[in-house]
Amino acid sequence: ATPTALLVGTGRGAQLGILIKGPQILESTRRVDTIVLDKTGTVTTGHMAVADVHVTATEDLQTVLAIAGPLEHASEHPIARAIAAHSKDAGVDLVQVEDFTNHGGHGVSGSVNGHAAMVGRGSWLTKEWSLSLPVDLQGQAEAAENEGRTPVWVAWDGAVRAVVVVSDTVKETSAQAIAELRELGLRPVLLTGDNSRAARSVAGQVGIADVDVIAEVLPADKVEVVKRLQAEGAVVAMVGDGVNDAAALAQADLGLAMGTGTDVAIEASDLTLVSGDLRAAPDAIRLARATLRTIK
Ligand code: ADP
Ligand code: MG
Repeated sequence: ATPTALLVGTGRGAQLGILIKGPQILESTRRVDTIVLDKTGTVTTGHMAVADVHVTATEDLQTVLAIAGPLEHASEHPIARAIAAHSKDAGVDLVQVEDFTNHGGHGVSGSVNGHAAMVGRGSWLTKEWSLSLPVDLQGQAEAAENEGRTPVWVAWDGAVRAVVVVSDTVKETSAQAIAELRELGLRPVLLTGDNSRAARSVAGQVGIADVDVIAEVLPADKVEVVKRLQAEGAVVAMVGDGVNDAAALAQADLGLAMGTGTDVAIEASDLTLVSGDLRAAPDAIRLARATLRTIK
């Protein structure tokens, strides 16, 4: 009787928009007590847009976009796509960049029209490039972070000259999904490479407390966070969508990928939430519990 019941479980899963790699997964699905949620693209839509560009007094907007646009055009990061599209809309010619380098979790650098340029997070520009952030723009950057937005700094020829504010939107169904996960007895944790203020703002919108927000985590360190929680005795589910999340998804006791995410994330996971609606996560856990109850 056991195999039949398991097949029913996986078939019902498909109806709910959940793809299950195999029936053996139901057992870990039942046992999870902690659920780590990637922020960008999992809790939020991940469709970034440029909300504002703040430029220092000595620079003009068009020049800033003429540097940042081509540089980000060479990157596939959602932030990069937003900045490249915004620059193109402003009439910028997205010229070829030389010596392009992607610094994962930090930003990008390269030579644009002969100018050595970087676009990325403030702490990276100050620590790795020994640049200082213009005092007149810091207040705007902080205000943006407090609203859940991401400030991205633009520098070239040895000076930081602008901050681009990028915004993302929390998915309509995320708060309900997280409430349901809590009702099922799981502790939700928000994990992101983004700044802590933005992370806490998003967490607040979906009902996750500040203590359960882990921000400014480099791509390679997401897996370490999962290991640490496991070492503390947690049985961990991880939900993610990005290349960044793959190692953590594989490490988790149960990996759940957004069907709207990257193939790498899907391959690393045990379950795929086809539509990218986070409510499929509590559905999957309920289904696993109900299916195992049928078998026992
Ligand atoms: P997440 O965990 O939210 O998917 P990432 O680890 O990809 O974030 O990136 C972390 C941070 O690094 C971003 O919030 C941004 O500040 C900076 N960053 C990464 N890539 C880029 C880029 N191409 N352009 C500008 N900033 C970037
Ligand atoms: Mg993501």
